[in-house]
Amino acid sequence: MILIVDDTPENLISLKKVLEKHDFEVDTASSGEEALKKVLKNEYVLIILDVQMPGMDGFEVAEAISGYSKAKETAIIFLSAANTELKFITKGYSSGGLDYITKPVDMGILLLKVKTFYRIYEQSRKLIEIQKALMDEIEFRKKAEHKKDEFISIASHELKTPLTSVKGYVQLLGRSIDKGDLETVKKHLQKAEVQLEKLNDLIADLLDISKIESGKLKFNKKNFVMDDLLDSIIEIMHQSNPEFHILKEGHAPQEIFGDEMRIEQVIINFLTNAMKYSPGTSEIKIVVRFENAGVYVGVKDYGIGIDTEQQKSVFDKFYRVEETAIHFQGLGIGLYISAEIIRRHGGEVGVKSAIGEGSEFYFHIPLISPTDPD
Ligand code: ADP
Repeated sequence: MILIVDDTPENLISLKKVLEKHDFEVDTASSGEEALKKVLKNEYVLIILDVQMPGMDGFEVAEAISGYSKAKETAIIFLSAANTELKFITKGYSSGGLDYITKPVDMGILLLKVKTFYRIYEQSRKLIEIQKALMDEIEFRKKAEHKKDEFISIASHELKTPLTSVKGYVQLLGRSIDKGDLETVKKHLQKAEVQLEKLNDLIADLLDISKIESGKLKFNKKNFVMDDLLDSIIEIMHQSNPEFHILKEGHAPQEIFGDEMRIEQVIINFLTNAMKYSPGTSEIKIVVRFENAGVYVGVKDYGIGIDTEQQKSVFDKFYRVEETAIHFQGLGIGLYISAEIIRRHGGEVGVKSAIGEGSEFYFHIPLISPTDPD
């Protein structure tokens, strides 16, 4: 928008008319004071400013405007009666572009100048946009680098913990064998096995991540029955976590074409999280039903829950809810891998949750998922 500032109404009207005829949006002010008020409120590409006005003159207005951050890109064309005034023109104004036209105004020249300033304004806008996009990109890459470093440090720690335990149990085993204490040997062996299993799961997850990155995560799809898979998972999980009751609600006796081991991995991941993020509770529900030519499976816990804002990000790579991350161990990759597995079955994942009430992590896959293109 252009602001014309002139104390003579006829000048205002005639300039306004010409500019509007050439499709420019025009605003007017009949004094310097009024112009300053308008500049504070609106954004102008260009101000056409009469130099000689009672009260504030054009130069004073320009000087004041130069202090407004809002008018940083605004150009000014002075309308001056005589060339002698022009030596004052550069005084005080150093923000946007600057030019002048002597009175009586040659409309052809004025239009040319207006168009040029508009073009410059648009180009500088574009440059600012590009600069902003570049800054955002740089910031993103920093952040990404920082996330990677953080991940490496967490991953090393997570791998080291079970490894240190295994080392300890092996030493104890040696001592128990020397003593011939077979009962203790068995106990230590079992404990070492649990830690080795943890290590194995962590390494498998890390391998999955790199397979996803390189597009090498392969699926072995066959027919299986979701009900049977769920029953077997519940039995296994119950054995390793007897403190939790896992109840199944609903049925899905239909055959599904998919990678049973990978779907099992997703459900176990949901269940492991359900237990991990629900301290002090002992019940988990698995909801299963046939729906929209596919199967819905939801794992419902009564734990800490996740707020709406964070729910959007939990399936992102390396994402962990910051407020709770220090209380629970994890790498923030399980849900990312799960989402990728379900996506590759033509399905979708999601979560319904409320802070302090618990969460239901779910997926829906079609009965027949698409086969991989390769
Ligand atoms: P990890 O548990 O190793 O951190 P995940 O990818 O499995 O990684 O989960 C990502 C994040 O989502 C977790 O760090 C946690 O903040 C949140 N989350 C996952 N499952 C639950 C759950 N059942 N209840 C509350 N928060 C959860």
